[in-house]
Amino acid sequence: MKTIFEKNNNTGGISFTDEEIHVDFIDKKLLRTNSCGLPDIGELEVMRHYKELSDRNFCIEKGFYPLGSCTMKYNPKVGEFLASLEGFANLHPLQSDEDSQGALELMYKLQESLKKITGMDAVSLQPAAGAHGELTGMMVIKKFFEVKGEKRTKVIVPDSAHGTNPASAALCGFEIVSVKSNEKGQVDIEDLKGLLGPDVAAIMMTNPNTLGIFEEKVLEISELMHKNGSLLYYDGANFNAIMGYTNPKLMGFDVVHLNLHKTFATPHGGGGPGAGPVGVVKELAEFLPSPVIDFDGQKYFKKFNLKHSIGKVRDFSGSFGVLVRAYAYILMMGKSLKEASENAVLNANYLKEKLKNYFTLPYDVLCKHEFVLSAEDLKHKTGVSALNIAKALMDGNTHPPTIYFPLIVHEAMMIEPTESETKERMDEFVDIMVKIYNETESNSEKLISAPHNTPVKRVDETLAARHPDLCFKAE
Ligand SMILES: *Cc1c(COP(=O)(O)O)cnc(C)c1O
Repeated sequence: MKTIFEKNNNTGGISFTDEEIHVDFIDKKLLRTNSCGLPDIGELEVMRHYKELSDRNFCIEKGFYPLGSCTMKYNPKVGEFLASLEGFANLHPLQSDEDSQGALELMYKLQESLKKITGMDAVSLQPAAGAHGELTGMMVIKKFFEVKGEKRTKVIVPDSAHGTNPASAALCGFEIVSVKSNEKGQVDIEDLKGLLGPDVAAIMMTNPNTLGIFEEKVLEISELMHKNGSLLYYDGANFNAIMGYTNPKLMGFDVVHLNLHKTFATPHGGGGPGAGPVGVVKELAEFLPSPVIDFDGQKYFKKFNLKHSIGKVRDFSGSFGVLVRAYAYILMMGKSLKEASENAVLNANYLKEKLKNYFTLPYDVLCKHEFVLSAEDLKHKTGVSALNIAKALMDGNTHPPTIYFPLIVHEAMMIEPTESETKERMDEFVDIMVKIYNETESNSEKLISAPHNTPVKRVDETLAARHPDLCFKAE
């Protein structure tokens, strides 16, 4: 086929004859003969359509978003600016180390910061999310025992754990053993003792746990586990509960993952990229995924030769844009990271104290970053469930809390205001919750059929999950 890019020899320059310009590039038999059915709509109308759709979406910039365990806090926009700087955003992942010194330096310094924050000795930035970090950590633990020549097949997980914990350990081939919570909402030490034996590889815990309660016996637990020859895995998804106050190392843990997209300023919730770095104690450093980023005093480089590495868990160097945002956030905050935890805990306790006058608080103790209410009594009395309250909140321009989790609280409503909310916003939320509470007696019918003001009303959630219909139809 002749192309217009061939040089015209007669003139010596690049000009084209009529014949060349009208040449058919595409073979006739490949051409469509009927319309492809694209709508004939102007750009402005298209823009309005998408703007209207985006207005129907709920986000942290639009209202209160107390989705427990998800840490839906405000993410400073300067992070977006920095992650989109040309040198970061357009750097090809296959560029040589020599040509990527800036990016490698950032990753190295982020690793160092996360080591300080967690107390761990080595960090991998590869995992793409929290659950992926858990899987990576469990693979490290598995390989550690393989190399040691010990056959340990079981992993202990508290009954209050985040659902991803048992899932990650099971995916890694471990058998899951559940340890009970006691009346204080903490790991039952006697139950734990009964589960120990030479086949236990590890315990996976988070502290504070998913009830937002700090495990007072954590040192006793880590001592018990280590005496048993087992390791301790720390789920650090919601690190704003403890940042700057304590760390997993001080509590005796060996492996930890962090959710940079929760604690360290990356917008999340829409299925976008996350990052779940994993930190380990020095005995496990050689087991991390490779490469890790290293520095020889002169230049930064990717280090591949880790003796027992579990191999790669992610292409290239992880979700680089998320790493940029996290590092920027850490630099911006400095020692105030501690203040972020302080405010997250203060806010949660403020809301807890206000709301416990209306809703049942099964574990009435000082909480950390979140707390869990129960609508069980209310449901018995009025028929209004946690689900109904969640739906009614949507009518008040508020995102519902996490509901029906953790499983050990019936009709659970798990509330996490995060550090970025003001007292005024939280008071507004309390007012809406109190209004809903008052309506449980006077107007329960309205609550049971909520939401009423949202673009989409009550949906069949099982059907929606199994057969999603993504075409929006105006009512
Ligand atoms: C969010 C969360 C996870 C999972 O993190 P993803 O990034 O969603 O995979 C694990 N544990 C806890 C406690 C969490 O809050």
